[in-house]
Amino acid sequence: MSSEYFDKKNRYSWKSLLKNSFSGHQNWPQARRMATLQSQYDVIIIGGGGHGLATAYYLAKEHNVGKIAVLEKGYLGGGNTARNTTLVRSNYLWEDAANLFEHSLKLWEGLSADLNFNTFFSQRGVFNLGHNLQDMRDIERRVNANTLLGIDAYVLNAQEVQDKIPILDCSKRSRYPILGASWQPRGGIAHHDAVARGFARAASHLGVDLIENCEVIGMDIAEGRIQGLETTHGYVKANQVGVVAAGHTSVLANMAGLRFPIESHPLQAFVSESMQKVLDTVVMSNAVHGYLSQSDKGELVIGAGIDSHLGYGQRGSPHLIEHTAAAIKELFPQFSRVRMNRQWGGIVDTTPDASPIISKTPIKGLYFNCGWGTGGFKATPGSGHVFAHTIAHDEPHPLNRAFTLERFSTGRLIDEHGAAGVAH
Ligand SMILES: Cc1cc2nc3c(=O)[nH]c(=O)nc-3n(C[C@H](O)[C@H](O)[C@H](O)COP(=O)(O)OP(=O)(O)OC[C@H]3O[C@@H](n4cnc5c(N)ncnc54)[C@H](O)[C@@H]3O)c2cc1C
Repeated sequence: MSSEYFDKKNRYSWKSLLKNSFSGHQNWPQARRMATLQSQYDVIIIGGGGHGLATAYYLAKEHNVGKIAVLEKGYLGGGNTARNTTLVRSNYLWEDAANLFEHSLKLWEGLSADLNFNTFFSQRGVFNLGHNLQDMRDIERRVNANTLLGIDAYVLNAQEVQDKIPILDCSKRSRYPILGASWQPRGGIAHHDAVARGFARAASHLGVDLIENCEVIGMDIAEGRIQGLETTHGYVKANQVGVVAAGHTSVLANMAGLRFPIESHPLQAFVSESMQKVLDTVVMSNAVHGYLSQSDKGELVIGAGIDSHLGYGQRGSPHLIEHTAAAIKELFPQFSRVRMNRQWGGIVDTTPDASPIISKTPIKGLYFNCGWGTGGFKATPGSGHVFAHTIAHDEPHPLNRAFTLERFSTGRLIDEHGAAGVAH
């Protein structure tokens, strides 16, 4: 598959690589246009993370909606997109969620070619460990549900897990004995920055204005519909506005006079020093509340659950890091002498049923895509794809029809707490 909107000069290929090597790589064209805020747009996307950029890209590529802008208060992809641990999978429990994440996984599989940009998507498989009988029953239930939907999912016993991950302590003396695991071979990881840059470059080539350092500070709403936005770059008119501001959903909703059932929590991750390749897959454990993979640079990338307090400070509490490091050490005793290099935090918006909201609002022309909690990176292309449809058609795509705001009053929840134990 090739992206026809990149002309010969702008396409990345082995030919352009070879040609540019003769001039010491000094003459590559600018990856994307520098844009300034215009006075009016047909569609404005608030939030230049992966989801916002993907939404703009699919709007421009698949829907004839006119002039589009993405407004980002910091730099593109500098929010949770830059801070996550990049785990991608689709083995959710309920049909609505599993179908949405599987749609995304299928888009991941062709994304580098589609964007003409290497997203370093690596399908190295994802294991969810089971440490007790209840874990194993939950795993079997989820694997059966996934299999019925055509999603690759397997139940492995302890010996099969040990064969696939030799460095994992599957012995009976382990503090958290491993009885088995679920395995999704098509799951894996991708490069977060590359995903944001790939979508930004492609959207920009399709004519989308990407405006950085432009914070939305107010919404102009009259006669029940959105009219425009107040920003730090001045006022801008808009026919339609899509909000994709993970971590700040409630702040944006407040500007529109709406209340969302969302809580914002810090979520942390950390990486070790680089070392030789010892782990070629992703291992998650809900019971010990930790997960890890090894990056191409050789660092162990480790994540945990959310900090229980609410807040907008992009940092978490030390006790969580300590708990996670201890748990990972129990699973992989060999890592006990590995030094940790960096730690950071993001802010995640969580919903009562651990599923996202991709929805119209009572205000005409205003749409929200939020509440991905600790697991939205994996949904980046799928979320952008269905949200673009929702905005362009003013009605949900069949895959996000269930993810409305109304479900919290009708009670038709999509409870993914089980499948999202460590929630990544
Ligand atoms: C430590 C950590 C680990 C994670 N690990 C995983 C994982 O392994 N797998 C997974 O699937 N998910 C993971 N996640 C979750 C994932 O990162 C998020 O769900 C996903 O990145 C959300 O993408 P986004 O584009 O919506 O958000 P963001 O990248 O946060 O983008 C939102 C943007 O909106 C901007 N914004 C906010 N307010 C305004 C305003 N008023 N005006 C203009 N712009 C504004 C912000 O600056 C930000 O750039 C993790 C998150 C964290 C913090």
